[in-house]
Amino acid sequence: MSKHASKYYHPSMNRDAAIYHKSHRTKIVATVGPACDTYDKLLDLVRAGVNVFRLNFSHGAHEDKAKIIDIIRQINRNEPYNIAILGDLQGPKLRVGEIENGEMEIVPGDILTFTNEKVKGNKERIYVSYPNLHKDVVLGNIIMINDGKLEVRVKQILPNNDVQVEVVLGGMLSSKKGINLPDTKISLPALTEKDLADLEFIIQKELDWVALSFVRDVKDIEILRSILDKNSSKSKIIAKIEKPEAVENIRDIIVASDAIMIARGDLGVELPVEKVPLIQKQIIRKCIHRAKPVIVATQMMESMIEMNKPNRSEITDVANAVLEGADAVMLSGETATGNHPALVVQTMCKIILEVEKTDYNYNREDELVPQPHSPSFLSDAICYNACKLARDVEADALIGMTQSGYTGFMLSSYRPKSPLYIFTKEKTLVNQLSLSWGVRAFYYDEEESLDDIINDQIDILKERKFVNEGDVVINTGSTPVDLHLPTNVLKISKVE
Ligand code: PEP
Repeated sequence: MSKHASKYYHPSMNRDAAIYHKSHRTKIVATVGPACDTYDKLLDLVRAGVNVFRLNFSHGAHEDKAKIIDIIRQINRNEPYNIAILGDLQGPKLRVGEIENGEMEIVPGDILTFTNEKVKGNKERIYVSYPNLHKDVVLGNIIMINDGKLEVRVKQILPNNDVQVEVVLGGMLSSKKGINLPDTKISLPALTEKDLADLEFIIQKELDWVALSFVRDVKDIEILRSILDKNSSKSKIIAKIEKPEAVENIRDIIVASDAIMIARGDLGVELPVEKVPLIQKQIIRKCIHRAKPVIVATQMMESMIEMNKPNRSEITDVANAVLEGADAVMLSGETATGNHPALVVQTMCKIILEVEKTDYNYNREDELVPQPHSPSFLSDAICYNACKLARDVEADALIGMTQSGYTGFMLSSYRPKSPLYIFTKEKTLVNQLSLSWGVRAFYYDEEESLDDIINDQIDILKERKFVNEGDVVINTGSTPVDLHLPTNVLKISKVE
């Protein structure tokens, strides 16, 4: 037994840790809300397969979020899990204001007036939370309301800066519904005043991931990054792709961000909805090529908000996202406000496991050959060959070490069939890596010889029954240990 191993024992490690972890490689992100906001309910979701909890800052008070954060951290302390917490900023989401009597019917041909004055909305004037509306729109621009269920077209900019519109698609217009302007360049800042206050809270609470909504280009990410850096925050950034501009600028956004969320709800309003499936496929491919985790979000199991079984089309949607190689699939209302939060996670997990045990696209080395012009070419080559070797010898474990997260994300991007274990002395990375496909991460801070470290890590996995005597394992690491160089060593061994 390793001389260090005992200190990695979790309080509950007299039990067999491996059986407490679901073996799904594609991760599950679940949004927290009133349907699952207690210790027992959140633990049920974790046991059903959740890897990341999402706190949606479009709803709820900081006080309530603080309680949830405490509970998730308690679960991480009491149980053998490293659940990550993702704070999702609302971004420049536009909305209509209150409507008299809560709602009113609008019909095609009606002329309405949008104003920046905080009036109660009626057929005369309706408040819209967008001071530059009159400057940014041009005649003929479409404005979608309530996820595109209602549609109006800009007819006239009035001398008092109100904007007159004609209803194209009618229905019931109710208070506070979101609006989208698919063909208008919106001049609002990337982070609203509300986002800045929420970000301060996220930084103070040291959340693992922060998602930025309605990203348009790389500048939006740079603004967020500079605030995080100024505050010495280790939170990693997820860019939510939900605007046509973001799709146009996707390459640079992927490079500048730490992960991507394909936010299909707003994306399907801002762009013709039939374009979403191919955009999803293309973004996933690009993210895998850059070793950036990618989440497929929204309406994955929507019918289970009410029902206890998903639709056939939802099952296929989840299965396809897994087949396309997404790092994670996300649940929103299904877990936040739905009737069956734990059942929906169990069901999603079953779909993932079924796909992963059959004809799954493991081992993508052949499409991800290291690029000689890349500054990380040499360490990329080690990761690439580690995965290739793992495939050739059908290794029982692929073990990596990382300080920046890079080797973890890189090894994961090859989608190795061998189970992937990542050791890091960066505590925040242990949870952050929970978003990454196939990664199971461990905190480890010993700095002796590389041989000692590798033996120690194998012992830790053996004690936890992730590997057994006689198993073939592949390690990556870096030497000299004290120089903390990028990954430069590859070793194959048999567990004794
Ligand atoms: C979406 O639009 O798909 C999405 C995830 O964003 P939100 O739920 O924050 O509106």
